[in-house]
Amino acid sequence: MNAPVTLAEPAPRVAASTVEHFDVLIVGAGISGIGAGYHLTQQCPDHSFVILESLDSFGGTWLTHRYPGIRSDSDLYTFGYRFKPWVGPPIATAAEIRSYMGEVIAENDLARHIRYRHQIVAASWSSEDSRWTIEARRLDGGDTVRFTANFLWMCQGYYRHAEGYTPNWPGMADFKGRIVHPQKWPDDLDIRDKAVVVIGSGATAATLIPAIAAESRHVTMVQRSPTYFITGRNANELADLLRTLQIDETWIHEIVRRKVLYDQAAFTRRSFSEPEVVKQELLSGVRAYLGPDVDLETHFTPRYRPWRQRIAFIPDGDLFRAVKSGKASVVTGEIECFTADGLRLKSGEELKADIIVSATGFNLNVLGDIAFTIDGKPLDFANTVTYRGTMFTGVPNMAWVFGYFRASWTLRADLVADFVCALLKHMKAKGARSVVPALRDEDKDMALSSFIDPENFNPGYLMRGMHLLPRRGDKPEWQHNQDYWAEKDEFPAIDFDDPAFVYR
Ligand SMILES: Cc1cc2nc3c(=O)[nH]c(=O)nc-3n(C[C@H](O)[C@H](O)[C@H](O)COP(=O)(O)OP(=O)(O)OC[C@H]3O[C@@H](n4cnc5c(N)ncnc54)[C@H](O)[C@@H]3O)c2cc1C
Repeated sequence: MNAPVTLAEPAPRVAASTVEHFDVLIVGAGISGIGAGYHLTQQCPDHSFVILESLDSFGGTWLTHRYPGIRSDSDLYTFGYRFKPWVGPPIATAAEIRSYMGEVIAENDLARHIRYRHQIVAASWSSEDSRWTIEARRLDGGDTVRFTANFLWMCQGYYRHAEGYTPNWPGMADFKGRIVHPQKWPDDLDIRDKAVVVIGSGATAATLIPAIAAESRHVTMVQRSPTYFITGRNANELADLLRTLQIDETWIHEIVRRKVLYDQAAFTRRSFSEPEVVKQELLSGVRAYLGPDVDLETHFTPRYRPWRQRIAFIPDGDLFRAVKSGKASVVTGEIECFTADGLRLKSGEELKADIIVSATGFNLNVLGDIAFTIDGKPLDFANTVTYRGTMFTGVPNMAWVFGYFRASWTLRADLVADFVCALLKHMKAKGARSVVPALRDEDKDMALSSFIDPENFNPGYLMRGMHLLPRRGDKPEWQHNQDYWAEKDEFPAIDFDDPAFVYR
């Protein structure tokens, strides 16, 4: 359960009939939205802004997910903001991440800018007025309030918070036990002495299983195919050494970030240049915990090259230690159906369960499930081309934060924030009221393809929702290439007078 974090005084409650205007409206109070608010206060202090959030508090992902063991799978030196030192162990619990975000809110007086329980349902752009009108449903009163804003900063994440993805298996209604999705972990779920089956082997399953193994009778992880895992201590030796030397935490944060990113760049490069060597290294990490008796080939050897899907970090090998202890086990095979007592696999194997946890991923959320219109016409993002995964052709005064998968999400949230603040300042200096990305003459015949190259990265929720996302061109300007190491230099060098930006 997340520790309560105290907020500064609550934001004002405004009468439903009042239309408030802000220079910038930020959607979502997750790590991206709170970061956006911070950067505006620092880089554009003359811009008014509001953050609208449908949940009861800040945190986004780290508030929604409450399953046992919930923790980050990337290190907080890079998942933490560039501007706020992380002082704990690299892998953090949801409660620790929320309390870090709570400090950012308190230290920068951001609480007065945030309105909770405001679910944005519609946003319409008027070229005549050069502004957005946003409709939000107030979840505590049920009434609808309107805002206008010059610029929309979309920090709504990438998946639907209300409900996770559960495939529709035959026989689900016959199962006598409870079916649970980790995104909606019930407060009253008692796993003591229960047989639990967890479907899936991604980061969520890998976190949940060691957290419940001791208390349950037995946990079985059922996977269609294996996932890569990387093991290591939940400690950063360099950070520990620098602390022993009493180096200032601001320096430690910067130095350790650089070291983590340097090592990750080498690892990412090697996963493309020598995938077989990297694969064997990852497998030997698993073997070191499980010993020779576990069938590594069947249960832990993925069919894809490393990094085509996110690699889950297993601190101190806790998942493997649960398997080794006999409290957890792994079954690899396809589910045929649910039965009254559990699951039947296509192999004919029956698995008995009191509780089945469907750790099967997310429903992609394309820009907050908001009904967008541009001058009265419904907007379909699939008909747009992405400008660096951050803006869209034909969509004025809007930026979108879509982070990294192979590196920490927040690295990109910080980069995009610098981009947005620089763009806002540029518009002000030019006296422009709107900016819209447009294909230049030299881009008109450019080949267009899906938002992400599935050969590069292909998790299920992206593959299921790719047809809803903007398209990508074959030049760096018109792609989100998931490459922090290229973008960290490319973003600051963006020329806002390039004809790809059309101002009015
Ligand atoms: C369990 C889990 C662990 C993860 N671990 C890591 C990790 O270790 N490292 C990493 O890099 N990434 C990780 N991720 C990915 C993670 O989601 C992102 O890194 C990051 O937290 C996303 O932050 P965000 O603020 O962009 O979006 P979110 O955290 O999704 O927050 C978006 C917010 O916007 C609000 N919102 C959405 N639509 C609307 C609307 N219409 N109106 C009002 N409010 C709206 C939502 O309620 C939510 O609070 C993890 C994801 C999950 C699910």
